[in-house]
Amino acid sequence: MKDIHQAIDCCSDDTTITGEGIVADYATSMREDAFAVSNEEKKVRIALLFKEIMEVIGLDLSDDSLRGTPERVAKMYIEEIFSGLDPANKPASTLFSNTYAYNQMLIEKNITLYSYCEHHFVPIMGRVHVAYISSGKVIGLSKLNRIVQYFGRRPQVQERLTNQIGAELSAVLDTDDVAVIVEAKHLCVCSRGVADDASSTTTVYYGGRFRAADKIAELHNYVFR
Ligand SMILES: [Zn+2]
Repeated sequence: MKDIHQAIDCCSDDTTITGEGIVADYATSMREDAFAVSNEEKKVRIALLFKEIMEVIGLDLSDDSLRGTPERVAKMYIEEIFSGLDPANKPASTLFSNTYAYNQMLIEKNITLYSYCEHHFVPIMGRVHVAYISSGKVIGLSKLNRIVQYFGRRPQVQERLTNQIGAELSAVLDTDDVAVIVEAKHLCVCSRGVADDASSTTTVYYGGRFRAADKIAELHNYVFR
C-alpha cells in the first residue's frame, strides 16, 4: 500500500496520517483534547450552551415545547449526527476472501447520505455511489453503507467527505481501485443565501483503475442509467 493508506493514531496534526487510515489532508480537524471528557459530560455542556443560544435569540424556555430542546440537541449531536467524529464509532469492516474469483467492479449505488455543512451546521442530503475492484478481499455490502454513514456523521464539506470515504475504502479493501460519487444538496444553499433548491453538488474520488476513461464510463453507465 502507498503511504496514503498507512494508519497511525492522531487526527489533529496536519502533518501526520490519521487513526482513520486516511491522510491528514483528508482528516477532519480535531482538537487534541477532543476525547478528554466523556460523552455524558459533553452532552451536559452542549445543552447548557445551546440553551444560551436559544435565550439569546429571544426564546422563552419556560414554554413546554422548548424546554427540553437543549438536551434533545445535545443528545442528537453526540449520539447521532456528529457521532462519526469519534473513532470508537467507526464501523468494523468484516472482510471475506474473494473465493468466487469475481474480478470486475462491484457497485453499491444510491446509499443514503445525511451529513452537516461545517460552515453553517445545516444538513447536506444526498446519495453516494461507491465501487471497487477486489484485490482478493470482499467487504460485506452493508459495510459500504456504514462507512458512508460514519463519515457523514460529522460537520463536513462535500469534497473532504468524498475523499474520506474513498481513502477509507481503499485502506480497508487494500486496493487503489476504488471510486466514490457523491451527489448532494446543501441546505445552506437551498434554504438561505442564494436560496436555490434546484442546484446540487457532485464530487468524485477515482483511484487506481477507476482513473481510466473506460472504467469511468462503465461505472457511469451502471450508476446513471
Ligand atoms: Zn454551508
